[in-house]
Amino acid sequence: MKVTVFGVGYVGLVQAAALAEVGHHVVCVDIDKTKVTRLNDGYIPIYEPGLENVVRDNHRSGRLVFSDEPSVGVAHGEVQFIAVGTPPDESGAADTRHVLSVASTIGALLDRPALVVNKSTVPVGTADRVAQCIDAELKSRGERFAATVISNPEFLKEGSALTDCMKPDRIIIGTDDAAAEATMRELYAPFNRNHEKIIVMDVRSAELTKYAANCMLATKISFMNEIANLAEKLGADVEAVRLGIGSDPRIGYHFIYPGVGYGGSCFPKDVRALISTAKSVGFDADVLKAVEHRNNCQKNTLFSKISNHFNGDLKGKTFALWGLAFKPNTDDMREAPAKVLMEALWQAGARVQAYDPEAMNEAQRIYGARDDLQLCGTKESALNGADALVIATEWQAFRAPDFDVLQEALTEPVIIDGRNLYDPVKLAGLGFDYYSVGRAHAS
Ligand code: NAD
Repeated sequence: MKVTVFGVGYVGLVQAAALAEVGHHVVCVDIDKTKVTRLNDGYIPIYEPGLENVVRDNHRSGRLVFSDEPSVGVAHGEVQFIAVGTPPDESGAADTRHVLSVASTIGALLDRPALVVNKSTVPVGTADRVAQCIDAELKSRGERFAATVISNPEFLKEGSALTDCMKPDRIIIGTDDAAAEATMRELYAPFNRNHEKIIVMDVRSAELTKYAANCMLATKISFMNEIANLAEKLGADVEAVRLGIGSDPRIGYHFIYPGVGYGGSCFPKDVRALISTAKSVGFDADVLKAVEHRNNCQKNTLFSKISNHFNGDLKGKTFALWGLAFKPNTDDMREAPAKVLMEALWQAGARVQAYDPEAMNEAQRIYGARDDLQLCGTKESALNGADALVIATEWQAFRAPDFDVLQEALTEPVIIDGRNLYDPVKLAGLGFDYYSVGRAHAS
């Protein structure tokens, strides 16, 4: 099938690559000309496991084309995906400006009926507004055909985005139009061999499903962080509690890891957006407000533990920081807990020596050159002369370090671990002062 994808960010690029990989002909359109030029030169702007080869192979074969010309995209696709960003506005609501701008562009250029599929995460009711935008443009040109607008929210996870698109858990299609449903079933057939993945529902429910999914996951994280904080105060071990409750199949082990709060481009903004949507219909989303509050507090956990250990005197101290990305297997630092920590440490007069397996360029891009940040080439070099090691992201590469090397490199054997990577008893035995989340301080 011929497919057009507007927006080559995490979602657009990965989805386009997956569709091209199974044989569809995909044109990607983005307003960022530099990004398009670089993609055409073979440079992949984001890190996602496996993505580079799939993009390059399909680009070479001609099944994946990048353009900054909307007319090329609108002329090409029988299905037109909108996968542009929906950042929060000042009130926390999702800003649908980019989505509606693509809708107007499609309406201004379309010369035949088409299926427009909204993949961006958008407030309930946006599909109707997209249809109105397209319709207004078509009418102003005297066209008599219409576009069908449906919702097909995306559930990929950064860090395993390509696998998630190639082997989705579910494909939500929000439409009551039988022809649109049939087209989407045909498009996704290669990902749905056993016919069990597609769930069809009305447009508004599909739009809400995306927010409900992210808000549920954010709730699990904030709940577990609340229990972790309580465990610390009550002298319990949250890791034991986690294993204890996860064994109940109604709870399960997924997504109940305590830590330093959720980040990334989705959970924080989607929780805020649903709170704002609720407010717009006169409803107080009490649970979600608490989820957000707990998360904002949790992002300060590492700093408070550091500050307590050093009696509030951080001026002139140096901290080794392992992990900058908001989670492993991505270079994305949007709303990352590591950013909150670094900025608090700098505010207190401390220096940071940081290492992340993938997010170094992103950190450089965000913070540029500054005296109080040294981006180190290896996790070991980040330790040299530091007063403590702090861990903000649970990369596999941090799970089994050589503790002798750590002890030699650090000026004091102190580890503040925001991801509970190590065994407190073992670390105390090795002579470390070890702080983690929801467990007693070990020394
Ligand atoms: P992104 O910021 O990485 O990419 C968005 C792209 O859209 C950018 O390249 C931008 O230049 C482009 N763009 C903006 N306006 C445009 C226009 N008028 N025409 C063409 N291109 C335009 O965003 P993302 O992370 O890919 O997210 C896209 C949407 O998908 C958001 O609504 C997000 O909430 C949702 N989503 C994201 C994820 C994720 O993990 N990143 C997962 C599921 C859903």
